[in-house]
Amino acid sequence: MSDPQPEEKNIFQRIIDREIPADIVYETERVLAFRDIQPQAPTHILVVPKEPIASLEEVTAQHASLLGELLVAAAAIARQEGLEQGYRLVVNCGRHGGQEIPHLHVHLLGGRSLTWPPG
Ligand code: AMP
Repeated sequence: MSDPQPEEKNIFQRIIDREIPADIVYETERVLAFRDIQPQAPTHILVVPKEPIASLEEVTAQHASLLGELLVAAAAIARQEGLEQGYRLVVNCGRHGGQEIPHLHVHLLGGRSLTWPPG
């Protein structure tokens, strides 16, 4: 019998660990941001914690400052991208939320007028 395989790293963790390329636009000690590979708006950037948190469902009060850093990063990137006319942040959580990658991420969408409500 073969040894059990270690749990596979998700794609965002592989980007954080520089195992696969990404168009990185912003980085701090605890946060990384890169362009979405299938952009849904002229600007579509994913802001992720370097710490492996699977989803918002996992977070506790201990993560409060890191979650704040994600929003501060998103606002800084929006300024960097020239999104003066506005933008939207989205965090998909779980199956009904449409989350596909099990690593917490904030979508930053801008560069066009966005409709509401989302689908
Ligand atoms: P979610 O559905 O909220 O989990 O969003 C996952 C997002 O990751 C989608 O918008 C994908 O287009 C995006 N994505 C998947 N693989 C990559 C990749 N290698 N580089 C950048 N974005 C990716």
